[in-house]
Amino acid sequence: MLTADQRTIRELARDFAESEILPEAAAWDRRGAFDRGVLRKLGELGFLGMLVPERYGGLGLDLPTCLVALEELARADAALALTVAIQNGPVPAVLLAHGSESQKAAWLPDLASGARIAGFALSEAQAGSDPSAMTTTAVARDGSWTISGAKKWVTNGASADLMLIFARTGEDASGRVAAGAFLVDTDAPGYRAGDREKTMGLRASETVSVELDALEVGEESLVGDPRAGLRYALEALDLGRLGIGAQAVGIAQAALEHAVRYAHERRQFDRPIASFGAVRGKLARMAARVAASRALVMEGARVWEARDALQDGDPPVRASSAMAKLIASETATWATEEAVRIFGGYGFMREYPVEKLMRDAKGTEIYEGTSEILRLVIGRSLKA
Ligand SMILES: Cc1cc2nc3c(=O)[nH]c(=O)nc-3n(C[C@H](O)[C@H](O)[C@H](O)COP(=O)(O)OP(=O)(O)OC[C@H]3O[C@@H](n4cnc5c(N)ncnc54)[C@H](O)[C@@H]3O)c2cc1C
Repeated sequence: MLTADQRTIRELARDFAESEILPEAAAWDRRGAFDRGVLRKLGELGFLGMLVPERYGGLGLDLPTCLVALEELARADAALALTVAIQNGPVPAVLLAHGSESQKAAWLPDLASGARIAGFALSEAQAGSDPSAMTTTAVARDGSWTISGAKKWVTNGASADLMLIFARTGEDASGRVAAGAFLVDTDAPGYRAGDREKTMGLRASETVSVELDALEVGEESLVGDPRAGLRYALEALDLGRLGIGAQAVGIAQAALEHAVRYAHERRQFDRPIASFGAVRGKLARMAARVAASRALVMEGARVWEARDALQDGDPPVRASSAMAKLIASETATWATEEAVRIFGGYGFMREYPVEKLMRDAKGTEIYEGTSEILRLVIGRSLKA
């Protein structure tokens, strides 16, 4: 059940999604880019700063309410929703938790309004699931930092205005990598976006590599402790994964709605195919798994909200968030495949909506932690 505020936000997000996003999503997918003007409108409505406190220009919503909106946007287009998830999730999370007051005042209002779009650059060619293998370095000299290396698969790596870059600053006492988190202007000399990837799904989302060629930034770019960046990144992913869970639920919900509508319209053997037990059974399982995924995402969001007050016996934040993303993303992949099956030959055709959903769903199983890594995280939380 949603609260009254959550219903209001859901209606606002749904109206916007159905009028401004849904009619364009297939064309954006074919073109490989969404219309940047839509981000400006999302910013005006507050959807780019949902968790940012009101004093910094955001809506100051709680996470469950934010995820209700994110699901609605993803139901219309998961590619656009990925940018919205990053803008609301991991980047402001690191700033809010670890930034100085002047950093918050300098950056959060622009993030919340959408005046500046932000990205999160953690992965590298040889450091994906294991970010501690990163080779990008940040070296301190005379009050500034020089960042050198390369990041891989950065969402909005070319078009973002600000990039949160994680770079190795040394090692800790036990020889483990120490890293810093740097929020940098992408106009700075030394920041160079590389080739755009050609992706299976989420084609309207920009995925690029980024070269950092002796990028020099001032002390004000460093967020928090220069040796705690990896911890900040993992904490940010606890939040980010819930956003991806909501994105996956949105995709799965769209697949369910298309499948139900089509199964009632399409007739074979003189009857709607929805009247066949095999098809009805598929729809029922899809509806049940989508509802279960949504419930798990909302539960993860409630645990995240309570993270500073959890007691013995409460579910741990990291495992709850991992469970939500794991189940929601695998449900999205499975439900979109079922929808393609229900559409028969038409399901395979690009002019029908479900093949895009199936391609988009696959991404949610990969970024911000693959399913295998999430199982590892959940497994670690199980104590005898
Ligand atoms: C569309 C898209 C957008 C992305 N956006 C961003 C972004 O904005 N910023 C960013 O930093 N990154 C981004 N990424 C990168 C993404 O986070 C990584 O691809 C992901 O973390 C996996 O890393 P990898 O690709 O190097 O795979 P690898 O780590 O090489 O893994 C390969 C396979 O091995 C498995 N594996 C690895 N280690 C283990 C283990 N210990 N136990 C069991 N199995 C294991 C994995 O699950 C996977 O199946 C994006 C990726 C995609 C596809």
